[in-house]
Amino acid sequence: MVQSRLFPMIAQVYAILAAGNTMRDMYESMLSELMKGDMTSLAEVHAISSGLKSTCSTFAATGVEDCRKIMGGHGYSYYSGISHIWSTYVPSNTYEGDNFLLTQQSARYLLKQIKVATTDPELVTPFSKYVIKTLDRDTFTAERCAVKSGVDWLNPEVQLAAFEHRAGRLVSELAMAAMQEDMVWSDLNLECWRLSHAHSQYVLAKSTIDGVGRARAQGLSAATVAVLKRLSDLFTLHTIQASLGDFLEDYFVSPVQCQSLRQQIKSLQEQIADDAVTLMDAFDFPDQYLDSALGSYDGNAYQRLWDCAQKADINQRQVVDGYEEYIRPILHQHGPAKL
Ligand SMILES: Cc1cc2nc3c(=O)[nH]c(=O)nc-3n(C[C@H](O)[C@H](O)[C@H](O)COP(=O)(O)OP(=O)(O)OC[C@H]3O[C@@H](n4cnc5c(N)ncnc54)[C@H](O)[C@@H]3O)c2cc1C
Repeated sequence: MVQSRLFPMIAQVYAILAAGNTMRDMYESMLSELMKGDMTSLAEVHAISSGLKSTCSTFAATGVEDCRKIMGGHGYSYYSGISHIWSTYVPSNTYEGDNFLLTQQSARYLLKQIKVATTDPELVTPFSKYVIKTLDRDTFTAERCAVKSGVDWLNPEVQLAAFEHRAGRLVSELAMAAMQEDMVWSDLNLECWRLSHAHSQYVLAKSTIDGVGRARAQGLSAATVAVLKRLSDLFTLHTIQASLGDFLEDYFVSPVQCQSLRQQIKSLQEQIADDAVTLMDAFDFPDQYLDSALGSYDGNAYQRLWDCAQKADINQRQVVDGYEEYIRPILHQHGPAKL
């Protein structure tokens, strides 16, 4: 049970790193284009970075709280170190653009991409190509997930097709709703939010899948690539599972495919178990930064908890400050206790 709560978060962390690489490449290429006066990619960089900010910082804030719960009562202790990580990351959901508000930026952009697709499909930007398929309504609504047996879920093309279909459906539904007479944009906030997260999750999925290909091309060992592939699979399949309603709503995924999806996730989690500690150690966070009795390099959690409690200021005296002056007189006002 703990593994099924924790391991998808490890996969999320690596997917976020992969999306960070994608974002940096896009940003650097945009900068060099801007130097030549070409502003073509500005809108896409803005839309994708807005969406990713919202999705990734939401993952981070909910993830910190989930980690606290995974550690039970010890997680709630100040000495777990979670409280300072939580207080550092939670406001990221608000600053640099409130996470709910930001989703309107990427949703508006995708609506514009649908318009571009109807007039100049070749101008649709790389991460929005899926909107083109939605224009042929009959073919798009008849589209179904290609999984026949459970292992098909491990095929990156199958995974990406699922993310593209879901985001495509949401953007075409938003476009239709936006065209209604008397439409009030603020009434579509929730639809924008769903679409933006669907699109960002597609970008994350594509980035993590591309990241595995990149690792292979860089000549990393077969064993390392295999671990990265498992992480990528776990991220994509767990993300699909977490929003399964979106995939079932138009029958893209069948109930039988849902069952095989869960089995694959379970099997991936079992395979990742041996590498989980190394995958986190790879971040090389120093103990000083973690400031945690539970998360230090030697794993000697109970001794450290004990040492922290011994050193705590409040434990340096038998009673708290003010006890003798204020509390003791009240407790003893009727003389010594008779028990
Ligand atoms: C720790 C921290 C550090 C910060 N640092 C800085 C800084 O260095 N510099 C700086 O300039 N600012 C800073 N800020 C401010 C931050 O950028 C704003 O708090 C943030 O942009 C949200 O704006 P707001 O507080 O006015 O909330 P509001 O915009 O009033 O939002 C309140 C609520 O209403 C919702 N909402 C608002 N408008 C809409 C809409 N049109 N449609 C739907 N829902 C809507 C939001 O989703 C939110 O839930 C910081 C904030 C925090 C928490």
